[in-house]
Amino acid sequence: MTGPTPTGLTLQDVVLTYPDGDRRLTALDAVSLHSAPGELTAIVGPSGSGKSSLLAVAATLLRPDSGRVLVDGEDVCGLTAKQATALRRERIGIVFQQPNLLASLTALEQLLAVAHLRGTRPRAARGRAEQLLASVGLTDGKQHRRPHQLSGGERQRVNIARALFAEPAVLLVDEPTSALDHERGARITDLLATVTRTHRTATLLVTHDRTLLTHADQILELVDGRLR
Ligand code: ADP
Ligand code: MG
Repeated sequence: MTGPTPTGLTLQDVVLTYPDGDRRLTALDAVSLHSAPGELTAIVGPSGSGKSSLLAVAATLLRPDSGRVLVDGEDVCGLTAKQATALRRERIGIVFQQPNLLASLTALEQLLAVAHLRGTRPRAARGRAEQLLASVGLTDGKQHRRPHQLSGGERQRVNIARALFAEPAVLLVDEPTSALDHERGARITDLLATVTRTHRTATLLVTHDRTLLTHADQILELVDGRLR
């Protein structure tokens, strides 16, 4: 490649197909995009347009048929499964639609579990986890509650704090507000815009709710696997 190495997240001509009977279904059709550090990129599109597929490719959970995915300029499509797992743990924060929190752990412990996987020393981990939870608004003892003792919005905040624990270069967020009312959804989107700036993540936010996009730096529309 010529020119300076782009930081953040870059997709170049990404094609992804799924088996579909004896044919293949094209879920992503030559998708190219770039999100720089500190930039919130929103992806909008109807159900079935390929939004979750796009995030899965960016997360290295699916390998594209062709095209490239670059994280801070490094091509991540050729990584082994083990290398891809390490990359996700160190460089990519993922927030799914349903907060996949462990039922038996408190908010704080959800973050400490990540710290443990990464080998962060317990004392440093605890301080950092408490700070992150406070930064997403979980204070006054809420950091010691288990998921069923938190509201849907608060669970999504835990999910976001956990995704930020490793200081990822890339933050991928799939319809984080779909289980929330409009007011709470808008506050989660505000929070994502704030953490994108303060943590300098290259953030991709997938949503079908256009009213939540006032903070986006760029809005890309996905239709039938094509960006326009
Ligand atoms: P969105 O998130 O925008 O709703 P998806 O990325 O989930 O869209 O799906 C895009 C298209 O790919 C849809 O037609 C969907 O049915 C299809 N698809 C998604 N996942 C799979 C899969 N694992 N196997 C086969 N087809 C899939
Ligand atoms: Mg989806």
